[in-house]
Amino acid sequence: MEGSAVTEFDHPTFRLAVAQYDQAAELMDLHPNLRERLKAPQRALTVSLPVRMDNGSVKVFMGYRVQHDSARGPSKGGLRYHPEVNLGEVAALAMWMTWKTAIAGLPYGGAKGGIKVSPSALSQGELERLTRRYAAEIFPIIGPNKDIPAPDIGTNAQVMAWLMDTYSEQVGFAVPGVVTGKPLAIGGSAGREEATGRGVVNVTLEALKHLKIELSKTTVAIQGMGNVGSHTARIISEAGAKIIAISDQNGGLYNSHGLNIPDILKRYQEEKQSLNSMHTLGDPLTNEELLTTDCTVLIPAAVAEQITQHNARNIRCRILVEAANGPTTLEADSLLADRDIFIIPDILANSGGVIVSYFEWVQDVQRFFWKEADIHERLKEIIVSAFQRTLDYAQGKKTTMRMAALMNGIDRVAQAHQLRGLYP
Ligand code: GLU
Repeated sequence: MEGSAVTEFDHPTFRLAVAQYDQAAELMDLHPNLRERLKAPQRALTVSLPVRMDNGSVKVFMGYRVQHDSARGPSKGGLRYHPEVNLGEVAALAMWMTWKTAIAGLPYGGAKGGIKVSPSALSQGELERLTRRYAAEIFPIIGPNKDIPAPDIGTNAQVMAWLMDTYSEQVGFAVPGVVTGKPLAIGGSAGREEATGRGVVNVTLEALKHLKIELSKTTVAIQGMGNVGSHTARIISEAGAKIIAISDQNGGLYNSHGLNIPDILKRYQEEKQSLNSMHTLGDPLTNEELLTTDCTVLIPAAVAEQITQHNARNIRCRILVEAANGPTTLEADSLLADRDIFIIPDILANSGGVIVSYFEWVQDVQRFFWKEADIHERLKEIIVSAFQRTLDYAQGKKTTMRMAALMNGIDRVAQAHQLRGLYP
């Protein structure tokens, strides 16, 4: 069994997720029967998606939806459009969603979806047809009580609107609760778009308080200027921290006196200027240089496996906040453990997105919408208490924040399985 699950989904990211899980399961002495059950996803669907391109030809894309576990409720997780997407990566991300929702105490399991595609290479029409075909193919396994997709890398509110519409057309009435991260006009929630970044900032401020570091003396470096990186940059600079380095996949910008974030975001998002071309605002720097910048807080907010055995020894931050999913490899994690670096693991640090997704789903199901201020407040309440619980557990058990978070999440899922028993 052990071999078969790993072979079926074999991929570096899946191996990372399973290895982290194994470490935590060992520490908490998880019963062997349950240990095996939680290693492989509950359900995995692979679909091929023929799409008529604008030039009349038909191109076939591969899509996936993996439901890792649903013992605690409907499975929940994003949909990723990226040229490197594959079944193993999606399975890893689905497993992380299971622990993430459990740590935050949301009544959900974990899932993830993906299409192997470079979305920027498609026209809007092609993207819409691809999304609708994907929605039609995964229709049997999604729904507000089954599995609820949301945005992730390469997808956005418009993609969610197409998914919601395709699903709704099949059943014959509007079902806003089938996806989260939708536009406001069709049942989206205030504060959802910036929620992951806001949650990242909430936990970063808690870590600074815990380590007694003053915000005015805090310097920040952020890798990634997508949804998560850009909102994190804006919100943490508004809070009073000094951002000295930012980057995207093409490189970045450095200024030891602090970068002017509103100006940079305007040029980057509205004028489509590249970061390392903004010479008047800072010096150009590479992604590798960003990760090893001397700073108080380092926030990887891009893709997985960025901090590896090759650069872990050169990381020079006091706090590492994993806004991306899986940014630190297993080897890097053990190298960092010997250093005085406080790590806020991904499944805790970036849970703001799914927390506000939960609020969106609750609002959709109840047909009753909340004010933005209430969303911010409730998000903070949930993520800060998850942070505190994790910190207390880590200190009590003398373990790392990553192991504490995993053990906490796995324990909640294990309890649900124990109570429900094994069918048949
Ligand atoms: N894609 C986000 C994540 O990785 C959000 C998932 C959701 O809101 O369901 O946590």
